[in-house]
Amino acid sequence: MRLLPAAAGSGIVFRRTDLDNFEIPANGRNVAKVSYATSLMRQSVLISTTEHLLSACIGMGVDNVIVEIDNLELPILDGSALPYVEAIREVGFREQRRRRETLRVLHPVEVREGDKFIGVYPGQGYRVSYTIDFPAPIGRQETCIDLAAETYGTEIAPARTFGYKADERKLRDMGLIRGASAENAIILGTNGPENGPLRFPDEYVRHKVLDLIGDLALAGRRIEGHVVAVRAGHAMHTACVARLLKDRSAWELAHVPVESAAAAEAQHQANGGVGEAALAGA
Ligand SMILES: [Zn+2]
Repeated sequence: MRLLPAAAGSGIVFRRTDLDNFEIPANGRNVAKVSYATSLMRQSVLISTTEHLLSACIGMGVDNVIVEIDNLELPILDGSALPYVEAIREVGFREQRRRRETLRVLHPVEVREGDKFIGVYPGQGYRVSYTIDFPAPIGRQETCIDLAAETYGTEIAPARTFGYKADERKLRDMGLIRGASAENAIILGTNGPENGPLRFPDEYVRHKVLDLIGDLALAGRRIEGHVVAVRAGHAMHTACVARLLKDRSAWELAHVPVESAAAAEAQHQANGGVGEAALAGA
C-alpha cells in the first residue's frame, strides 16, 4: 500500500488499485461489518482492518491522504500502528492553506450496551479515556491521553493488538484473514504474554485507545471533544460514530487555527513532494 497527498478537505480516502482505482472514503456511511476489526464497504467493494492506519493518521495529525491498496486487507504489520507512524514521519507532512475542519462536540452523545459504554463530550482538543476489564491475565486497566500533546507516536502507536491462546478460533478470526500470530499480536497464555515482553505494562488498554481513535476517524473529521469508553470494542466505537453523526444538534464543524507545534502538525498532509510513504503489504 502507498499513502499519497490529497487536497485540503478531502479527508482520508482508500483507493483499490486492483479495482480501477475504486475509492472508498473513510466515513460513517461506508462502515461495513464490525467484529474483531473495522471494515468499510461501498458498492460491495470491501476494505478490511482499517483501524490501525486510520488511527496513525489521526494520531499524527494527517487530515487528508489517499491510501492506495491493491487488495482488500490492510497490512497488519506488527499488530500496532508504529510502522505506519514511522513511514509517515519518514516522508513528512505538508501544511495546507485551508484551516483544519474538526467535528466539535456540542453536547454529550452516549451509547450503552449492558456493561459496555462509550460517550463523547464537549471539550477542548481531543482527549480519550479508556477502561478495560478483561479476564486474567489482563484484568482491569485504564488510561487517558491528550492527542494534542504529541504523545500518540510514543505512547499509543506502539501498542499491539492481543488475543487469548485459549480462544484459538477468535485468534484466527481477529478481523484478519490470515489470522493472528506471534509476529502480529500479543498471544496471551494463562500466565501472561507468550511471545516476549510487553512494550508497556498497560499495552492492552493502550491498544484499545489506538483502535478507538481509528474507529472515530470514521466521523469523517477529527473529533474535538472528550471520549470516554468502558469495555467497548469496534462495534461500540462505530455505533457511537453513527449516533454522533445522526444527532446533528450534537456537533458543529469548526475551523481550527494553527497554534502549537502539535496543532501545526495537525494541518499537515503526507508530503508527496518528498516521497510517498510506501508500506509493504504482506
Ligand atoms: Zn486493533
